[in-house]
Amino acid sequence: MNTCQCCSGENDAIGQKESSSFCPQCHTEGVSVSTTTVEHLVMDLFRQEVTASQYRICMDPDCDVVYFGPHPKDLFTKDQIKVPIWFKREASPKYACYCSKVTEEEVMQAVAKLGTTSLKEIIEATGAMQNSHCIEQNPLGVCCHKILEEAIEKAN
Ligand SMILES: [Zn+2]
Repeated sequence: MNTCQCCSGENDAIGQKESSSFCPQCHTEGVSVSTTTVEHLVMDLFRQEVTASQYRICMDPDCDVVYFGPHPKDLFTKDQIKVPIWFKREASPKYACYCSKVTEEEVMQAVAKLGTTSLKEIIEATGAMQNSHCIEQNPLGVCCHKILEEAIEKAN
């Protein structure tokens, strides 16, 4: 018998990847996040449950699910995450910069006080973006830059 072992099962894995990109609860498509981000943001109690190789974040403000992986058990909800997720309903405080713990409210106050919407001036006034630990501290694992810009726009 001469069976090729290296090719078996590969097609199955690809099929699974497709179906797992949607939130198991609200069925909206999730955004890919690094496993490093998930490991840092779940409460210590749940860290050992971060076993999937790939995670996505659910962007629906009304859905309690934050991170989900390929299997239904790979699921973390709002109450299992260390920080409030700024785009989820009732998040408090709403951070605009997770690395330096600057809130959306602080950004909006700075915009009002300084009468500027210059990102550079707002960053200086609030002390945002002082540390670059976005991949570990921002729930999306991306730079806080974009959330800051959104907060400035909102203040206008
Ligand atoms: Zn969801």
